[in-house]
Amino acid sequence: MEKAYLDVCIAQCPECKTYYAEASWYAIELECDLQCNKCGKSFSPKKFSTDRVMVEFEVSEEGKVKKVRVV
Ligand SMILES: [Zn+2]
Repeated sequence: MEKAYLDVCIAQCPECKTYYAEASWYAIELECDLQCNKCGKSFSPKKFSTDRVMVEFEVSEEGKVKKVRVV
């Protein structure tokens, strides 16, 4: 079983408190703003991030994801 990883950032909309999970390279490194799907507010996921985790994907020989966990 092969493994692949994704660095994920959890951010919360400052207006309606909805949580979003976004790739860290996009949310933190590029500092792109997110637009909330619920209330329409644009906010910085870097400024309003609540957590950052590494997600591990177990990948089969055929390249299909079999299992996902937080490491
Ligand atoms: Zn919102």
